[in-house]
Amino acid sequence: MGTDLRLPTHKIVRPDKDRFLNEDNPFEAMMSRFDRAAELLDLEPGIYKILRNPEKTISVSCPIVMDNGEVEVFTGYRVLYNTSRGPAKGGIRFDMNVSLEEVKALAAWMAWKCAVVNIPFGGGKGGVVCDPLKMSVGELERLTRRYTTGIIQTLGPDSDVPAPDVNTNERVMAWVMDTYSMHVGHTTTAVVTGKPVEMGGSLGRREATGRGCMIVTREALAHLGMSMKGCTVAVQGFGNVGSVAAQLMQREGAKIVAIGDRDACLYNKNGIDIDDAIEYVKKHRSLGGYTKGDVISPNDLLTLDVDVLVPAALENVITTKNAPDIRAKIVCEGANGPTTAAADSILDEKGIFVIPDILANSGGVTVSYFEWVQDRGGYFWDETTVNNRLTEIMQRSFQDVLSLSKQHKVSMRTAAYMLSISRVATVHRLRGIYA
Ligand code: NAD
Repeated sequence: MGTDLRLPTHKIVRPDKDRFLNEDNPFEAMMSRFDRAAELLDLEPGIYKILRNPEKTISVSCPIVMDNGEVEVFTGYRVLYNTSRGPAKGGIRFDMNVSLEEVKALAAWMAWKCAVVNIPFGGGKGGVVCDPLKMSVGELERLTRRYTTGIIQTLGPDSDVPAPDVNTNERVMAWVMDTYSMHVGHTTTAVVTGKPVEMGGSLGRREATGRGCMIVTREALAHLGMSMKGCTVAVQGFGNVGSVAAQLMQREGAKIVAIGDRDACLYNKNGIDIDDAIEYVKKHRSLGGYTKGDVISPNDLLTLDVDVLVPAALENVITTKNAPDIRAKIVCEGANGPTTAAADSILDEKGIFVIPDILANSGGVTVSYFEWVQDRGGYFWDETTVNNRLTEIMQRSFQDVLSLSKQHKVSMRTAAYMLSISRVATVHRLRGIYA
């Protein structure tokens, strides 16, 4: 048959992104921010101990027959960090750098992210140690199905709901959904989110994270007495999150003076036409060779004198080395973990208003929640409804975090952690300890 079975690589998430922490132990590094918030909340020792440990950690060996007839065994993990508020929610990544410590950290992070926007999910994450870019579609499908079977006891719309992550995409989610459905004997769309729209995915999911960034940036500008109209913006990363955030901010009247991706960073003081740049990237896969701006270095992009900086590519790009040079008034963390813990205090001292990742990029998981709700209800919303409901949640969450940050005189990041940890802790107190 003539169908091209290769994974659409322009659509899959890059393997090196989302590596949000460099430290030897990512779980402990992430927990240092948790600890600060827990201390400020005066969290009782019992709850503190509960929240510092993942609820369930699964490790599975996944043997599959490769195309050459040899058997290869891959290691997969699934961590349910905390399910006190609802089913675990979090992506599955296929990457050579997957480790249990990283999956644990990412699962915890999802628990805080879902709580900050107050959606009824806990946090989970999964991963398989493999190099998907070297595997055929058949091998990837067999691996996905075997891994899904390995973790099937915990999967389910009421217990654990995966989504795409690094190197997985809607096609992989379709295989997870199919494998699960075959096991339980009936079609269960709500077992994963980020599915194709044709099989229970939600309208607006693709744009949700960038849209969320735009909404919280608009709120931050208003808080600082500024407006999106005429404000200057630099965006690092021109993939799903960065390009949509830039496009929607431009539609709101912002002037996007710089954009950059893996191949090129461009500056144009008169503003860059984002629709045109998106069209260019659709054709050429990256901004390399785009001529509607002056080429600048990646560090120049980050340190431009702009109103808003949106790091929407990678982790650890704002570090102690360049944080003193950041001139933006607002940093909207579209990516996960773009700022190192050590750089946090430098940005704080400079009075830069940081919209932390667990709030700024939570639009994606919020529309995943909408997808799960629509699948369970069997009734699908139009895109305007999805976008309006997303706007409501993002605005409310921003205001919740802002008022906590004012109340405790802490940064937006610490306030976001405090808000989410206190929400999870409250549920633990109400539920009590079973047995
Ligand atoms: P993507 O793969 O669509 O885009 C990534 C972009 O970053 C690409 O333009 C790529 O060229 C660029 N990039 C890679 N390396 C770079 C470098 N060294 N310098 C500058 N640019 C570089 O990924 P995405 O879905 O847009 O995700 C971006 C970030 O947002 C990740 O941290 C991801 O975890 C986070 N995030 C994404 C979502 C989502 O819904 N897609 C949700 C929450 C968080």
